[in-house]
Amino acid sequence: MKCSLMKSCCRLLSFGLAALLAGDCVAEVKVTAELSQEGSFFRFENVPLPAIDDTGSKGKWKVVAGQVDANSGSIERLFDGRVPASADQPSENFFFAAGTQNGLITVDLEQVTDVAEIVSYSWHTDSRAPQVFSVYAATGEEPGFAFPVSVDEISNTSGWKKIASVNTRQVNQNGVQHAVRIFEPDAILGKFRHLLFEMNATEPGNRFSHTFFSEIDVIAGDATKVQRITAPEVREIKFTTTDEAYRFTIDVTQALELEMWAAEELNPLIQDWYPKIVAMLPSEGFEAARHVRFRFLRDEEMKGIPAYASGPTISMNAEWFRGQLNGEARGAVVHEMVHVVQGYSGRNHRGRGFVAPPGWIVEGIPDYIRWFLFEPETGGARLSAERLKDAKHDASYRTSANFIDWVIRNHPNDGRFLEQLNAAAREGRYSGETWKELTGKTEQELADAWREGRQDDR
Ligand SMILES: [Zn+2]
Repeated sequence: MKCSLMKSCCRLLSFGLAALLAGDCVAEVKVTAELSQEGSFFRFENVPLPAIDDTGSKGKWKVVAGQVDANSGSIERLFDGRVPASADQPSENFFFAAGTQNGLITVDLEQVTDVAEIVSYSWHTDSRAPQVFSVYAATGEEPGFAFPVSVDEISNTSGWKKIASVNTRQVNQNGVQHAVRIFEPDAILGKFRHLLFEMNATEPGNRFSHTFFSEIDVIAGDATKVQRITAPEVREIKFTTTDEAYRFTIDVTQALELEMWAAEELNPLIQDWYPKIVAMLPSEGFEAARHVRFRFLRDEEMKGIPAYASGPTISMNAEWFRGQLNGEARGAVVHEMVHVVQGYSGRNHRGRGFVAPPGWIVEGIPDYIRWFLFEPETGGARLSAERLKDAKHDASYRTSANFIDWVIRNHPNDGRFLEQLNAAAREGRYSGETWKELTGKTEQELADAWREGRQDDR
């Protein structure tokens, strides 16, 4: 969409941790957008932390069109100076209902104000993270000034001037936070009393793609004088493998009590095992992540999950780890590092018939490496003959690890079985047939022999 006011089209692309893009038009106004996967607190490279006592926090906010989702927080969530603690907290965000095309929100600043900038923050794991909206402004003193009652009415309603259009939609990543800053360098955005936000779904055709807006700040005057949420100082342990082939960062900001353990125990474990896992699971043209990030998050943010991997980032539940330092902590990290190396996203194979491997393969391989190669002495995935009789080879995790171990011992394929199984999964060509291709026996034949505890002939 073009706007008639356009004098120049400013697209200031700001590349934060990942990157991002900008709005379409509007006179001199700059729109910067940044993404962050850093965890809580909305820490961005150029966009400041969310404000608490900005002018917007004292304004009157109102939904004038569109249906608010039943699980959304109230509209206060947009200006209360509070942010969610995790990537999927509906009640701590404000969002429109599934199926609502566009929503309209007005803010009355109660007097004509020198608006310096507008900054919006969102956080979600998926299609609700990007921001797609336009913002209009008015003094309220324009002849015939009125409020539109629907998006279609905006252009026919007197007094409103479009300030910016924003679109941060792009390939999304898990747990991503988006921040958008609308401002004019060395000037104010304008003198306004009323702001109007036209909120759009991020994916046309996806009913569940209304953005989880965590905060929208309207700053008047000096942005440096505004009170911001407080985020703890970032504390990281950085190291590499001796040959410097791989770099690692452990973010202990939210678990200072684990800093020493991370430095003394986790660091050598990672240096030793990450390259080992990479070497175990090669495939043609595949390159494992060269920088792996580990971060401790609080239990609330982890929703009780001990650990998970997302791309090259491993998130670890601080409370769970604290209780498992002499138990499962190290093994869990090995398991997650295998997920990083698996790289089963299909990114390099999309459009070439990539078929996502089943969950029991995705989880069975990490548990095989963990229980049978990393800590065999714990016997964590052993099965008694009694339990084996009723076991299901595709029951995932330890049970599938036990099955994979049995297949490897009976059909080692010159020591390449694991590598070949993983390559098939990574390249999206894994199927039940893979077992027959690699061992000469069907999946069912193998599973039956495994359950009976037979030693197969080779
Ligand atoms: Zn897993």
